[in-house]
Amino acid sequence: MNERVIIFDTTLRDGEQSPGASMNAAEKMRIAVQLEKLGVDVLEAGFPAASEGDFEAVSRIAEKLKNTEVAALARTSKNDIDRAWGAIRNAAKPRIHTFIATSDIHMDYKLNMTRDEVVKTAVEAVKYAGSFTDSVEFSAEDGSRSDRDFLCRVFEAAIEAGATTINLPDTVGYAIPEEFADLVKYVLTHTPNMKKAVLSVHCHNDLGLATANTLAAIMAGARQVEVTINGIGERAGNTSLEETVMALHTRPNYLPMVTNIKTEHIYPTSRLVSMITGIIVQPNKAIVGANAFAHEAGIHQDGMLKNPMTYEIMKPETIGLSDSKLVLGKHSGRHALRSHLKELGYDLSDEELKLVFSKFKELADKKKHVVDEDLEVIVTEGILRTTDIFRLEYLHVTSGTTVFPMASVKLTVNERSVQGAGYGNGPIDAVFNVIAKLTGAESELLRFSVSAITGGTDAQGEVTVRLRENGLIALGRAADPDIITASARAYINGLNRLEYLKNHPVVSSEFG
Ligand SMILES: [Zn+2]
Repeated sequence: MNERVIIFDTTLRDGEQSPGASMNAAEKMRIAVQLEKLGVDVLEAGFPAASEGDFEAVSRIAEKLKNTEVAALARTSKNDIDRAWGAIRNAAKPRIHTFIATSDIHMDYKLNMTRDEVVKTAVEAVKYAGSFTDSVEFSAEDGSRSDRDFLCRVFEAAIEAGATTINLPDTVGYAIPEEFADLVKYVLTHTPNMKKAVLSVHCHNDLGLATANTLAAIMAGARQVEVTINGIGERAGNTSLEETVMALHTRPNYLPMVTNIKTEHIYPTSRLVSMITGIIVQPNKAIVGANAFAHEAGIHQDGMLKNPMTYEIMKPETIGLSDSKLVLGKHSGRHALRSHLKELGYDLSDEELKLVFSKFKELADKKKHVVDEDLEVIVTEGILRTTDIFRLEYLHVTSGTTVFPMASVKLTVNERSVQGAGYGNGPIDAVFNVIAKLTGAESELLRFSVSAITGGTDAQGEVTVRLRENGLIALGRAADPDIITASARAYINGLNRLEYLKNHPVVSSEFG
């Protein structure tokens, strides 16, 4: 029997700290349900002390999930731990994750605390968290740059106080694989009571080594890994779930460890996280990038035709990427749609289903086959964004070689209808000008990109925008068979996210 590695997913906590990635509660819930389906063991749902919005989102997720352990992050203060427990108290399996920095530079400059004070504070926090739940995780922030013996001292004290998981983070993404493995071994052999807890690692990708460091740590004895979908996270991001899991899956002889991940859900999960956060997956991204399974070179294609395993170390079906997916057409009924949505992870009310069904029919009239990605777009945009302040009601554009591009737009702004018209250098510029005027937007458009969701000329165009206002960054994303409509919706989505950010300031957990 191969040993098991616990997969701790922090897409909703550390991943959400990616610039622009803020999600509303309904969007977080959708991702949480998908992560449970994927088979993650522990899901870090958020940092409840950071904001009311985070508290609310974590509470809802904690109540919903039945199999996955739900973790909430807390600093060492009683207030943080109370907030964390308040949010997860109704979870089937609640975990409190508390942390304090242990490197000299953090203790001296950030905490202004001595080593003894840090140990005492950690012990008190773990004990207090342990008065609520049996599952307590303790993290030593900036662990990879901490004094080794001091690290072991803090860990021993935390385990003695009741911590069941001990996390060793490479908070700043500084470690090198061999060095990190050596640190893991050192901690395992020099912390006397280490056998009473699970050793976890949490790596960042500043040097592009997050997955390498995580795998090195597993080989050295770590049995929990903290990861995110698509590797999203602060700065260069976190260790990617799909890379770590597929490395174990593809090289079982060298890495004799198993996980509970159902690999066939990897691609749909990656796709969903990208769609909801607006963070595009780079084409050459390992495992889930658009080119990850594309063999373009002629010599490779020749080999692939004779036997796919000549150049392919993984099968696309293993991660849930296949051409033959169930599609719905214009004659599919409401019942088929409901059961298909349920399979995708959506439990919709009758009212919501009615709305999705009418949008589905509308799309099916324009597009021959409606695939999963199309349905995800309808639900993420039509249902999960219903709390939006700005909504598109109507759009009319004229453009061409002989006319001046002009747009008329009608929006709902805080439940009130407003409309206007204007010109631009092109149709999209015209639409954006009118929307900016109607919403009073002062944001700057940093990036605008268009791609196709699926193949074919009838594919939905997918537009992503990146907006900035007073230092806040928001991403907007939308899809539609008409790219001008998609552009308008993406821009409006970005503006809504900016509004959300203004009202729900993201307090960095500092833990990173
Ligand atoms: Zn982190």
